[in-house]
Amino acid sequence: MVFQFLRTSLHAETTKCSRNAHCSTGLMPTCRLCKSTYPADQFIDGNGPRHLVCVRCAVDEGYLAAEDVSNLYDDQTAKARMSLFARRYGPIFWLFVCWTLWALLFQGIDLWTTLTMGALILATLGVPIMFFLRTAKFQAQLRQLTP
Ligand SMILES: [Zn+2]
Repeated sequence: MVFQFLRTSLHAETTKCSRNAHCSTGLMPTCRLCKSTYPADQFIDGNGPRHLVCVRCAVDEGYLAAEDVSNLYDDQTAKARMSLFARRYGPIFWLFVCWTLWALLFQGIDLWTTLTMGALILATLGVPIMFFLRTAKFQAQLRQLTP
């Protein structure tokens, strides 16, 4: 596969300099395979092919079993977290969109301007109240989705 080939060629290029990556103090090490920078606790221990490999790549390459990695977000968890955040912050986003649309479009149509402004003011008052009322539930759900 092209992707695999790319990875191995990257590997060949980076083995020279990867030895020094841990030496620099304060800087986060870079994964040899995916070139991403993570905190040191996101790297697996070992020499040779396991040197400077992040947890995610280690699972991809088969150095580690996914069940052994306690802090890895699998795809399902990541999606669930995403929709949880979308549900929490979505209403605020839509409030801004609606106010902007109202300011741009609903000027000069007397009846509709007043009616939509009334609805928007109600929504503006309601959204923060619901936001704070749901904080505890949100944090509980987020805790469930944190590995
Ligand atoms: Zn990696």
